[in-house]
Amino acid sequence: MKIGFIGLGNMGAPMAANLAHAGHEVTGFDMADVTVEGVAMAASGAEAASGADVVITMLPNGQILRSVANEIIPAMAEGAALIDCSTVDVDSARTVAEQATSASLLAVDAPVSGGIGGAAAGTLTFMAGGSDAAFAKAAPLFDIMGQKAVHCGEAGAGQAAKICNNMILGVTMIATCEAFALADKLGLDRQKMFDVVSTSSGYSWTMNAYCPAPGVGPDSPADNGYTPGFAAELMLKDLRLSQQAANSADADTPMGQAATRLYEQFVENEDGMGRDFSAMLPRFEKRGRL
Ligand code: NAD
Repeated sequence: MKIGFIGLGNMGAPMAANLAHAGHEVTGFDMADVTVEGVAMAASGAEAASGADVVITMLPNGQILRSVANEIIPAMAEGAALIDCSTVDVDSARTVAEQATSASLLAVDAPVSGGIGGAAAGTLTFMAGGSDAAFAKAAPLFDIMGQKAVHCGEAGAGQAAKICNNMILGVTMIATCEAFALADKLGLDRQKMFDVVSTSSGYSWTMNAYCPAPGVGPDSPADNGYTPGFAAELMLKDLRLSQQAANSADADTPMGQAATRLYEQFVENEDGMGRDFSAMLPRFEKRGRL
């Protein structure tokens, strides 16, 4: 396929490289001056999009996605597919999909989980929203860039799945960290705490697979000085998107709201910026009851 790829940052660059490596003809564009192995660079987004069978975007936020979509949709050939893999708000995803379908394009919102490591290894998980025809066109590319793709429903369903998942992740990470900090103060050994919880009803991905306590459980960012991993500011971005969606859908999400507030405080007023999101444990460790 002829593929345009717009947004070649930490995630986009390795994803585009994997598509080129698999034999697709990839033309990229990024505002920054970047080079990606196997990818020809265009002078603008519109140039990368024109004549492409599929255009993939991997951009920082919904506002940038909307402005890039305004530029590239008129340049795309009828029947081509616009696949947005960025994590953005549900409203932007739906607006861009509507704009694309009214221009006779196929549209998929397909945010990912798996991080930079997953992008490089081609093991991302895609959560996709869009028509069956749009998903079918994108699926072979998801197979190259990832190991799993779930068609979640119509436009916006991929972003909805992503932010609901990450709202659970933020909340459970906080719950796991505050429980470890309480266990410390109760004189409970961390290894014993892990041995019990990881095999009891308090188990979770954050405890069992990504344990925030150094030296306990499988290898995780905690064992590497809390170098991300998944940075606290990216968790904050996703939690804010969950709250934006909850506002517009009139959903009551008290735990998501509390997690957003805590990560906001951690990233903006404490030392959370640039640290893994599991560094909430040393944060709680230092605190007493208010
Ligand atoms: P990044 O900042 O490294 O990359 C974004 C790229 O977009 C940059 O290279 C930037 O120059 C480019 N860009 C910005 N505006 C542009 C424009 N108008 N035209 C062309 N290029 C433009 O970010 P990233 O880590 O690659 O993340 C990309 C998306 O993936 C985000 O939405 C993020 O939330 C999501 N995501 C990231 C991770 C992660 O671990 N990094 C994991 C899952 C999802």
